[in-house]
Amino acid sequence: MKKRTKILATIGPASDSLQMITQLIYAGVNLFRLNFSHGSYEYHTQVLKNIREASQNTGLVVGVLQDISGPKIRIGELEKNFELKKNDTITFVAENIIGRQLDAHNYEVSINYPQILSKLHVGDYIYLYDGIIRTKVLTPQGHPSCKDSTVSVLVENSGTLSSKKGINFPNTRLGVEVLTQKDMDDMHWGVENGVDFMAISFVQNEQDMLQAREIIKDLGGDQMLLAKIEKFDAVENIDAILQASDGIMVARGDLGIEVPYYEVPSIQKMLIQKANAASKPIITATQMLLSMTHSPRASRAEISDIANAVLDGTDAVMLSEESAVGEYPILAVQTMFETIAQTEKLYPYYRFDFTQEDDVTSAIDKSAVRLSKELHVSGILTLTNSGSSAKKIAKYRPSMPIYAITHDERVRAKLTLTWGVIPLFSVTKGSLGQSLNKVIEKGLESRVIDLKKTYILTAGDPTGVSGSINMIRLLREQEMLFFQSINQKSNV
Ligand code: ATP
Ligand code: MG
Ligand code: MG
Repeated sequence: MKKRTKILATIGPASDSLQMITQLIYAGVNLFRLNFSHGSYEYHTQVLKNIREASQNTGLVVGVLQDISGPKIRIGELEKNFELKKNDTITFVAENIIGRQLDAHNYEVSINYPQILSKLHVGDYIYLYDGIIRTKVLTPQGHPSCKDSTVSVLVENSGTLSSKKGINFPNTRLGVEVLTQKDMDDMHWGVENGVDFMAISFVQNEQDMLQAREIIKDLGGDQMLLAKIEKFDAVENIDAILQASDGIMVARGDLGIEVPYYEVPSIQKMLIQKANAASKPIITATQMLLSMTHSPRASRAEISDIANAVLDGTDAVMLSEESAVGEYPILAVQTMFETIAQTEKLYPYYRFDFTQEDDVTSAIDKSAVRLSKELHVSGILTLTNSGSSAKKIAKYRPSMPIYAITHDERVRAKLTLTWGVIPLFSVTKGSLGQSLNKVIEKGLESRVIDLKKTYILTAGDPTGVSGSINMIRLLREQEMLFFQSINQKSNV
């Protein structure tokens, strides 16, 4: 069974070993997310080492996405998980303490941005853990019944709370910068360690993305930059943000609190459509298989959610706590894989009209897809320098695999997120003939291509120049044998 939609899995304590990462890759993970809201540099450095080693061992290309946490307000560490019940109270304190249970119904926790406490009013709602736990402010700061700089809230529904969960204040404007000092330090780590993607949280406008891009450039990086869409303002400014980004994420956890929850599915569809039209990858994230954190079987609704995201046209679906801290990370990936593969049997391939394109390379990529469809070829091979050609081909969602061949290892990893693209291998720079010789030789050797089948190939001549794509070639047995012979001749 094969799938076209990609799987992104968050690594955490439940999945950080070399053995687990290897198994996750075999189960179908295409790229891993390192969430910089959690874990130290030492931790992430070790995880990255394990990912690279697992990729080497399996011989499969996997990408690494660094999630930059942004100004998210979170509770501090807890002495243990809190099993909250309706009508319990939680007191938020400004001091940095280990959160603890005071008695049967009262808890005390710290908060990483205590300035917010003074802005709250009695009756304000405060949401914890992606909105799963709703609370209401009982006492604002300065209330006679509490110490300075504390706020107590009444829990309105039961739920388990663990360390460092996010807090949302829907009625309160923060007015803080999107990139904190910690974020900039984290980005430094990301560039130094060569992550493939960086995702910026709580983006509000294109300026936020341009600023992040500038920082990466100053650090000497070339990461693909993704905007997490989780603020109302980001939805409003989506066109400009998309233009300033290399891709986006529908970050449904925080988004579902920022906007009315019933708007999330329509926003998801709108975002996917816009990202597809721009040939930029999009990730659908949060609560996709949440019940599998503690159960080996997903709910029907979760399976439907994955299937619908696939049919909407998402490039990737993501696992958060399911793979980071859940009991069944591998089973969760398998569940996603099976659901994707089954759903893709009724996938709306060729979803974009082959309309007029205004630049030469797009026109060639589009024509290659159209020809592939008419000739029912077994695959589209693209010699892509920056990866953009593979992304443009993917936009049309052809029913056959898109094999991307590059001169650059890093470009391969950056294609792990794009729907339908199989980053194959890198070939050293040379003439078009030499490159094609290598493609055929390695393709046959690894059994990716078959002499008895027909393929379409797009390339640029000279090779290795961005935007130089200028040819579509039919590859049948006779052409493949011809290209195979080129090097032998030049060897004598
Ligand atoms: P975000 O808003 O960026 O999604 P999050 O807190 O929801 O942040 P997720 O990556 O979605 O984080 O993961 C879900 C949970 O898994 C986290 O809340 C945390 O409890 C746990 N987790 C994730 N990664 C780690 C880690 N490296 N170490 C410890 N716990 C982790
Ligand atoms: Mg979030
Ligand atoms: Mg989350």
